[in-house]
Amino acid sequence: MNFDRYRVKPGKRVKLTKRDPNDRALFEGSKEDAAIRTLELVDELEELQEVLYAESKQKLLIILQGMDTAGKDGTIRLVFDGVNPSGVKVAPFKKPTDEELSRDFLWRVHQKVPARGEIVIFNRSHYEDVLVVRVHSLVPKRIWKTRYQQIVDFEKLLTDTNTRILKFFLHIDRDEQKERLQARLAEPDKQWKFKMQDVAERAHWDAYTKAYEAALSKTSTESAPWYVIPSNLKWYRSYVIASIVVETLKGMKIRHPDPDPALASVVID
Ligand code: AMP
Ligand code: MG
Repeated sequence: MNFDRYRVKPGKRVKLTKRDPNDRALFEGSKEDAAIRTLELVDELEELQEVLYAESKQKLLIILQGMDTAGKDGTIRLVFDGVNPSGVKVAPFKKPTDEELSRDFLWRVHQKVPARGEIVIFNRSHYEDVLVVRVHSLVPKRIWKTRYQQIVDFEKLLTDTNTRILKFFLHIDRDEQKERLQARLAEPDKQWKFKMQDVAERAHWDAYTKAYEAALSKTSTESAPWYVIPSNLKWYRSYVIASIVVETLKGMKIRHPDPDPALASVVID
């Protein structure tokens, strides 16, 4: 499958209003068909992950970003359901602690990058340091401005050391966010997810959009590309992300380690 329509080409300026969050061009069938196909992809992902772990050479880092309610948690639940927890880790990034703030912004992130054979999923990431930080002026502009290049350099260090990086921006629109926030309020089982903070952040939608556009435009590279994933339709979002992850793992040409000849003569009695 060709995911170019969602991949941000290096150097290309992203306009989010030109990207349709309802797009479903890569799946012809029904929502139900897509759900079945996604389950098959999730099975494939589990098998590939086992080989990645057995080979223990390469690493995969998946970065999830998006506005509140865009579906970061849902994607992790759906796509990485069932993978072996010893080889797959989720690293959520919240408001930094004082300890974290007293270091450079990449310090806490670097500690969570995948080891050999691992898949790590970042639920938010170092990109918050050019998103929420920019929107709320948590550091002066002259500081956050320098971070785009620092991020590109940091990610280059990771890709130079056998890490594949996939960055997914879950693209929803403002109306969809309204519906999802309302659903969280209305349904008792979902209320725990509702945060007053999300309503306050919603007021900054345009500023976030601008900050995202800058981040996506400045930090998509050949080896660490951004994908803008249409995410108003949850089933489509999960299907596309699962497809990209499976295709990427296949492209990594992972294989089980060669059998050790010394083991051929081992007799267990
Ligand atoms: P959630 O992902 O919904 O649990 O929310 C985590 C919160 O932490 C969000 O409001 C983020 O904007 C915030 N956050 C994450 N990283 C940073 C950061 N580097 N600086 C400030 N706030 C952050
Ligand atoms: Mg939230």
